[in-house]
Amino acid sequence: MLELEHFPKIDAHFHSTFYNPVYEKIAKDYHVKYININTDASVFPRMEVQENVALAYVKKAPEHFAYIASFEMQGWENPNWHRSVFDRLKKSVDQGAVGVKIWKNIGMEILKPSDSSFLMIDDPFFDPLFVYLSENKIPVLTHLGEPKNCWLPIQEMTSERNKVYYTKNPEFHAYLHPEIPAYKRQIEARDYLMDKYPDLTLIGAHLGSLEWSYEELAKRFDRYSNFYVDLSSRLGHLQMQSVNDYEGVRDFFIKYADRIMYGTDAYNNPEKLTSSLINDWKYFTTNKQCESIEVNGTFKGIHLPEEVLYQLYYTNAQSIYPGLNVEIHS
Ligand SMILES: [Zn+2]
Repeated sequence: MLELEHFPKIDAHFHSTFYNPVYEKIAKDYHVKYININTDASVFPRMEVQENVALAYVKKAPEHFAYIASFEMQGWENPNWHRSVFDRLKKSVDQGAVGVKIWKNIGMEILKPSDSSFLMIDDPFFDPLFVYLSENKIPVLTHLGEPKNCWLPIQEMTSERNKVYYTKNPEFHAYLHPEIPAYKRQIEARDYLMDKYPDLTLIGAHLGSLEWSYEELAKRFDRYSNFYVDLSSRLGHLQMQSVNDYEGVRDFFIKYADRIMYGTDAYNNPEKLTSSLINDWKYFTTNKQCESIEVNGTFKGIHLPEEVLYQLYYTNAQSIYPGLNVEIHS
């Protein structure tokens, strides 16, 4: 029988913005390497601070920590913005960053001064950035758009976690802000990047904001050979689908086993991290009854084949982020 503590794992979506030694302990206890993700969000510290924290973890225990860099959109109207971002990213990659994160402030927050429309990721403004990332073979992790629920009233949302999040963060609840571009537009803008830059490795964080339908994800995997996703914070949506379509969800994980990466999205929260590691493992490796805050009632684990688990938890992250130097020890 496979054991959680001994099975090698990469948590491809993790956030820690101040140094906490408990993560190294959890990494050793559970045999994990984390990819710590810098993010251009106002609730996170300044980018330089985030990057220094991420580097401190890598320096302390390179076998357990790696990181994904990012850049600030602040000052984007400045003519030197692209140049300074390229310089910054080059330095980050030289220091060991395995990819670059792009956040939902693009598409949902930042306005163009010319006409006060939202700056979308498919705007020609970003062409030089994607040419740079593509030519330099730097994988890009995109959190673009939000769960489809974000565009619905709270009572119509399918996930308890989404209900709680958007009640607490009304500024991100698109339903309350009809000026925010529609869900469909967010997805189209992201898909456009994969059409336009077929050599770019593009990872959709949070199931690429297509969490509500594994069939929609499958369509993108079929269409774009450069598209990957992480499961972070959205596994509940697939668990929900598996309540009524158990074989469909299970077959999806098996058919696209090389496209999906495990990730927790634990954010300065060691308790969430360990409970996710334990509960997610039960869902993937057994056919026992599972529970989640996101799903009403219990649901059955999908008991994936060992080779699929190995891809999901371990080898995919290594091939998707080639800079990841994996030498983890239990
Ligand atoms: Zn995250």
